[in-house]
Amino acid sequence: MSNNKEFVKFAKVDKSYDGKILVVKDLNLDIAEGEFITMLGPSGSGKTTCLMMLAGFETPTNGEIYLDGNPISNIPPHKRGIGMVFQNYALFPHMTVYENLAFPLRVRKISKDEIDKKVDKALSMVSLAGYESRMPGQLSGGQQQRVAVARALVFDPAVVLMDEPLGALDKNLRESMQYEIKHIHESIGVTVVYVTHDQGEALTMSNRIAVFNDGKVQQLSSPDQLYESPVNSFVAKFIGENNTFKGEVLDVSKDKCKVKLDTGGEIFANPISVNSKGEKTTVSLRPERALINPDEKMDNNHKGKIEEVIYHGDHTRVRLNLLGNNEFILKVPNSSANLDIKLGNEINIGWNSADARALDPK
Ligand code: ADP
Ligand code: MG
Repeated sequence: MSNNKEFVKFAKVDKSYDGKILVVKDLNLDIAEGEFITMLGPSGSGKTTCLMMLAGFETPTNGEIYLDGNPISNIPPHKRGIGMVFQNYALFPHMTVYENLAFPLRVRKISKDEIDKKVDKALSMVSLAGYESRMPGQLSGGQQQRVAVARALVFDPAVVLMDEPLGALDKNLRESMQYEIKHIHESIGVTVVYVTHDQGEALTMSNRIAVFNDGKVQQLSSPDQLYESPVNSFVAKFIGENNTFKGEVLDVSKDKCKVKLDTGGEIFANPISVNSKGEKTTVSLRPERALINPDEKMDNNHKGKIEEVIYHGDHTRVRLNLLGNNEFILKVPNSSANLDIKLGNEINIGWNSADARALDPK
C-alpha cells in the first residue's frame, strides 16, 4: 500500500435528493491508495449514493470529494479514471467478451495492439483466458461477473467501485468470488471501494470497513476491530452474533462497571459508553466469549438453563435462559464433547467483564 493516505477523500459530504432529507450526512472518509475499503450497512443507509457521487453520477449537496488531492466535482464520470462493477451493470449482450473489454479502451482511443495486450492481461487475471470470442449468453453467472470485473480493471483505473457485485450469485459461488476479487486486489494493488449489506463478505474482503446506518458512518475500522470492539449497539448488532443485556449502571470505575439488569441480577461489564451511575445501557457479549464451567478468574459466573441445542457441524449452538435472558447463545466447538449439553440441564457460564461491552441503550 502506498503512502498516500488520502487518495480518495470525502470531506463533509452531505447528499439530499429532495432538498429536505439528507440520505448522506457529513461524510468524512479518507481512503488510502491501494486500500480495499467496504461500505457496509442495511438497505437504504446511503452506500450506493456515496459510490454514485464518487463515480460522478450524483453530485454532493454539500462538501467535496477529492481524488489524489484534486476536487472532482467538475470532472465528468468518464474522465475520473474509475472502473465500476455493479450487480445489474450487465455486459453488452450483443458483443463478445473481447469486445466488451475492448470497449472502455476504444473510448480512451487506445491502439489495437495495446488493446489486445490489455484484454489478454485482464482476462487472465480473472482466469478466463481463451474466452475472448464467447458471447455473454454463453457464460455462467459467475463467469459473466468475472468478465464485468475484468472490464472494470482493463483500463488500469486508479479506483474501482463495486456495488453488491456478487448479490445475484448463489452462496458457494459468491464465497469463491470473494476470495478471487480479494486476490486480484492483492496482486494489482488497485484502490477498491466495495459496497455490500453482507457483513460476512465485508469481513472477508476488506482492509477497512465503514459501517453505515441512516446516512452516517457508525464506525470505521479493520474487520477484527469491528467485530471485537464495536463502538455502539448498532454495530454490535449488525456485525456478527451478539448476546445483549439491558440494564442500569450501579457502579462504574475506569475499566469495569456493575450493571443491574432489567430482568433481575447483576453483571460486570466493560464501560465503553457509560460514565456514571444510573445510566441506561445495553451490554453486548459475543457468544464465543462465554464459557462453560469457567475458572475462578472470570469475574462473571452464572447458572443458565439449556432451552435448545442445535447441531451445526463444526459447533453446537446452545440457547440458554441466563439471568432472565432466554435468548442467550453459546457456541460450543464440537471437538470438545461436553456431556452437560442436554436440554433442561443447568450449567455454569462465565465471561470476563472486559469482553462484555456496556454500550448505548439502543
Ligand atoms: P443503500 O445503497 O445503502 O441501500 P441508497 O444510497 O441507495 O442506499 O439510498 C439511500 C436513500 O436515498 C434511500 O432512502 C433511498 O430511497 C434514497 N435514494 C436513493 N437514490 C435515490 C434517487 N435517485 N432519488 C431519490 N431518492 C433516492
Ligand atoms: Mg445500494
